[in-house]
Amino acid sequence: MTHSRNASASSATRKTTLSADGYEGRSLRARADPMAVRPLRDRRYVVETNTGTYVVDLEARSCTCPDYAIRGARCKHLRRVAIEVNERRQPAPTERRSVCAVCGRAVFVPFGATGPQLCADHEFESGEFVRDRESGSALVVTSVVHRRADEVVVEDGSGRTVADYETNADYGDHEPVVEAVYLGSIRAVDGRLEFDGARRYSFPASRLRHVDRERGDRPRPGGFQSQVPLAEA
Ligand SMILES: [Zn+2]
Ligand SMILES: [Zn+2]
Repeated sequence: MTHSRNASASSATRKTTLSADGYEGRSLRARADPMAVRPLRDRRYVVETNTGTYVVDLEARSCTCPDYAIRGARCKHLRRVAIEVNERRQPAPTERRSVCAVCGRAVFVPFGATGPQLCADHEFESGEFVRDRESGSALVVTSVVHRRADEVVVEDGSGRTVADYETNADYGDHEPVVEAVYLGSIRAVDGRLEFDGARRYSFPASRLRHVDRERGDRPRPGGFQSQVPLAEA
């Protein structure tokens, strides 16, 4: 299950302006005035401007600036925070900033999300076709376990963690674990892939390669896709 979304890598404290094309009045100033927006831990945001520093509550639609206090208006700070959240420059009030365990890029995840996270490029969807970089085998993802590879113990009785396996030495111990089944071990029932009974294997996330997201490696008739055992009983 994917919860993360990519975040832009803008500095948290540097005052920036946004492109102001097609905006007027407060909307224009909300975009064009230099402001530095920073999320707080209590779902609010600090907005630093050349004339003062204010706190914006996006959910309550309020701001601590004089403009808001006097006019009760939707001030430029409130607008600016809304714009930056919409453009994914800032986490939404229900999110926090995290980093992708594979590439280190900033991602926004729900406050409750724990363990290592993945960006949209490195995230896996359940049911997605992947290839094992070590063996070249084709697999189908069943789930992403948001726990480190050196914390997840493999259920083979050895007591070893995913990271302990020699074949995983080249992949990050800190990466989330992806569970997948070998393509040959699943069957299709009424056109749907049936995972029950297929043994699940655990991999560090970067050991598995997305198949259908890579140019020149898309499933196509006569290729990878035809290997799915569609009629097996
Ligand atoms: Zn304001
Ligand atoms: Zn990533």
